[in-house]
Amino acid sequence: MLFNAAASGLAQKPGQSVKPASEIRPDNNPNMETKKIGLAIHGGAGTIERSKMTPEKEREYRAGLERALTAGYEILKRGGSSLDATEAAVRVLEDDPHFNAGRGSVFTSAGTNEMDASIMDGKALKAGAVGSVQHIKNPINLARLVMDKSPHVMLDCAGAEAFAKANGIELVDQKYFFTQERWDALQKMKAAEKDRASGAGTSFLITDQDRHGTVGAVALDKDGNLAAATSTGGTTNKMPGRIGDTPVIGAGTYANNQTCAVSCTGDGEYFIRAVAAHEVSALMQYRGLKVQEAAQDALDTVKQLGGTGGLIAIDKNGEIALPFNTNGMYRGWVSRLPLAPPDTNWILNKKTFPDAPAFDTNAATQCCQHFRSSFRVLTKKPASARRCGSRSIILPPTRRKAN
Ligand code: ASP
Repeated sequence: MLFNAAASGLAQKPGQSVKPASEIRPDNNPNMETKKIGLAIHGGAGTIERSKMTPEKEREYRAGLERALTAGYEILKRGGSSLDATEAAVRVLEDDPHFNAGRGSVFTSAGTNEMDASIMDGKALKAGAVGSVQHIKNPINLARLVMDKSPHVMLDCAGAEAFAKANGIELVDQKYFFTQERWDALQKMKAAEKDRASGAGTSFLITDQDRHGTVGAVALDKDGNLAAATSTGGTTNKMPGRIGDTPVIGAGTYANNQTCAVSCTGDGEYFIRAVAAHEVSALMQYRGLKVQEAAQDALDTVKQLGGTGGLIAIDKNGEIALPFNTNGMYRGWVSRLPLAPPDTNWILNKKTFPDAPAFDTNAATQCCQHFRSSFRVLTKKPASARRCGSRSIILPPTRRKAN
């Protein structure tokens, strides 16, 4: 139960009992803003090796995630739609060469860049997707256009690019997508492949970051509408023409106002086979699971099939889940408390995680401290969760130390 005497205008005199939160709920306080909004983003499962993560690099990753969160959150804060917020957040990450999407896309075995993206509107269950596009600066914008302006859900290759051209979407030369790091990752994977074929037995350290990556966003807007958007360069050394889970609605992306919005990252083939994004929604709808449980269950199914990765999900109440089974997942989230009164306004809980599960524990703790300074928390802490305002952040069962 929460109470903020100053913010609610109920100055508390000594000895006066604290008015419980239930009495300052919106139905008897018309000035109180109740609409929850929330945004979560990811920059791909499988982070840079800890030993290569310099403070400068960490700052760059964190800055990229911050920019994306800010772009999406500003839209939500102004009362904009979750669709616009997710598209804006993903676009920022597509423009950032650190992430495997748009500008920083990985290379196919032929040395080309082929990108996939999709977006879904949880209100109307409308969706748009593009596969294997090679010259689209921001594939997420094209996916949105497919949803809004075509009679189809998915377009790929030349057809998608012709549609883009006809609708004023920016096309660029393939050179735009060249980054040395991604090129080096391709060379490393090719060398490992050659080595395997010849039986030479040289050892290569191929990290998750070398192999794949994706960016994505999920959001809840003030009207209760959910949306999800995902964009990727796919997997390094993939066969030309390979399309992963990212543009497959229900696999890499899904949104439904009845349940949640989901964006996935990881070994796409397994996410397709597990129909992972829709699975989260189905587990909530048909088995009544909470978003955190459903997200973990769906990811466990992916793992059972042999896949690694992660996903982000937000439910219709603004609860957020960000599970992953790789060494890390670039991610961040921002949400607003449902009972935030107008004069404290946005009780902003904004976190980015460029790396490592250990951040989860710290972030949850910091977040609780932040809220404690704004609210008196009167509930008992459950064993597995700490109350953060009216939100619970589930802590990992064991604290894992960063490498
Ligand atoms: N899921 C993406 C794909 O398979 C890659 C990733 O998210 O890491 O194309």
